[in-house]
Amino acid sequence: MLADNIFLKILDKSIPAKVAYEDDRCLAFHDIRPQAPTHVLVIPRKVIRTLDDASPEDEALLGHLVLVAVKLAKELGLAKGYRLVVNCNEHGGQTVPHLHVHLLGGRDLGWPPG
Ligand code: 5GP
Repeated sequence: MLADNIFLKILDKSIPAKVAYEDDRCLAFHDIRPQAPTHVLVIPRKVIRTLDDASPEDEALLGHLVLVAVKLAKELGLAKGYRLVVNCNEHGGQTVPHLHVHLLGGRDLGWPPG
């Protein structure tokens, strides 16, 4: 069971977050419990609960989220590499029901993931 959508409160600024980037389609902010030296979340302003809820009309938006994460990786100095992750539903480890791209970097992340 996914928890309440706290990211809507971050989007409407009713709870604070350390914002890394924002535009008319998305917001990027630092994760409150970072799993790597750099851990940023890129989220759409549009409410899409999970990857399974994305539709063909979201194609450009999904690409935008990825390209924003890549831009941030460059700006945040992740020249040695980084990882983008989208967790989906229970087995994917998704805990917040608002689509988000994790940008992780700043250490060797290892493979395979847990
Ligand atoms: P998920 O597990 O759904 O893929 O990722 C949710 C992420 O949101 C987690 O890494 C968690 O630490 C982060 N998170 C949850 N609540 C908050 C919050 O209130 N502020 C911030 N900045 N990150 C949060």
